[in-house]
Amino acid sequence: MGMPKSLRTGTPVWLDRPPRRQTCQPLKGQHEVEVAIVGGGITGSTIAALFAGAGIRVGLVEASLVGRGSTAASSALLLREPDLGLTELGRRYGAAKARRIWELSTDAARDFVRTLSRLGVECELTRRDSLYYTLAPESVPELQDEQARRCRAGFAADWLTPGAVRRLTGIAARGAIRTRDNAQFNPFAACLGLLRVAADAGALLFERSPVLRIDRRRDGIEVVTSKGTLKAAQVVIATGYATPGFQPPVGRFRLNHTYVLATKPLSRRQRWELGLGDVMLWDTERPYHYARWTNDHRLLLGGADHPVVPGRRRAAAFRRGTRQLREYFDALLPALADVGIDYGWEGLFANTPDSLPYIGPHARYPRHQFALGYGGNGMTFGFLAARLLLERWQGIQSPDHALFAFDRHR
Ligand SMILES: Cc1cc2nc3c(=O)[nH]c(=O)nc-3n(C[C@H](O)[C@H](O)[C@H](O)COP(=O)(O)OP(=O)(O)OC[C@H]3O[C@@H](n4cnc5c(N)ncnc54)[C@H](O)[C@@H]3O)c2cc1C
Repeated sequence: MGMPKSLRTGTPVWLDRPPRRQTCQPLKGQHEVEVAIVGGGITGSTIAALFAGAGIRVGLVEASLVGRGSTAASSALLLREPDLGLTELGRRYGAAKARRIWELSTDAARDFVRTLSRLGVECELTRRDSLYYTLAPESVPELQDEQARRCRAGFAADWLTPGAVRRLTGIAARGAIRTRDNAQFNPFAACLGLLRVAADAGALLFERSPVLRIDRRRDGIEVVTSKGTLKAAQVVIATGYATPGFQPPVGRFRLNHTYVLATKPLSRRQRWELGLGDVMLWDTERPYHYARWTNDHRLLLGGADHPVVPGRRRAAAFRRGTRQLREYFDALLPALADVGIDYGWEGLFANTPDSLPYIGPHARYPRHQFALGYGGNGMTFGFLAARLLLERWQGIQSPDHALFAFDRHR
């Protein structure tokens, strides 16, 4: 089925001192489950945990080591709001569908927090408000309109004046929408924790096992690696985006490099000088910039996305992307100029034409379900994918499924 491009470069802060874990064996010999999952990132691990928790026999097959693809690169802001606002989504799909997509995304972020807590997954999970701000005076009316639209549709959203933004963050924005009760966590630890939960509930986990192909059988499918096979009634493809083997879906994705810097831990005094409170930030520019604190008082600074470049130009693009990030945030938060950077990394993410994921079947691939293409919302939508795919497996029909189907653009 083909392998993805290298999913990231540089060492993310989460991998510097990764939590201890059991290693999983490669897939050898023949095994049989009800549902096979290809890909051991946050999506595959959430699917494994929810399915195994519902009593379904699952087997997860990871090409390399679990959690070390885009998931390890993630800054893991768990936002209720999708990348596209209600205004923009409403233009594409009408107000009712836009509102339902927002509801599903809001519920997914809330339920992911509840699930991680209920399952006892230790991952530095912290509730945080987020501020969606603008620096551009000409964007203020549109942002205010978006805030009003959110309130009318029943989504809590406060408008913050420039003075209120400055008091809360130290930045000179023209205004912002504040969303309460978002969250952040350590994505690598969350992925490992969810897999532990899945394994405890009987899931089979295999690492260092690239899936070469998926064969059709009369009564199901067979996931084939170089040393073994995993038979199942159904397979879920959770590889982040479509790998080259899936030719029609692959054309739907645009791959981008995105960059993150992690500062040194800031002292109490440095945090006071910076003026940035305990909130997560993202801006209205496209591509957007974002920032959030870690629990050990580092600041994660992200954004500066660029369309994917060939391997030999990736190092130069990395230098340019991280430099642009630094310049943007030094201008935004001048006290940052004296703060050193400990980590810089870059990862790939896959965007779809409407910035929403594909969740569900594809006409060309019987007995396959896909969970791919989250843009900047992999934490929220990865969880939503697990929930919707579980519904489908359980035979529950819902109009929600069509919102994320491959054929929604027709
Ligand atoms: C720098 C960066 C910052 C981000 N920040 C945020 C954020 O703040 N909030 C947010 O919500 N999202 C964020 N995202 C997006 C989010 O991280 C991703 O959408 C999410 O991690 C995708 O998870 P996944 O499990 O679907 O894919 P991945 O984590 O990429 O996992 C896919 C796995 O599939 C495996 N695989 C591929 N092919 C095969 C094969 N043939 N056989 C077996 N295994 C295979 C890969 O090895 C990989 O481990 C960010 C992304 C990046 C890169």
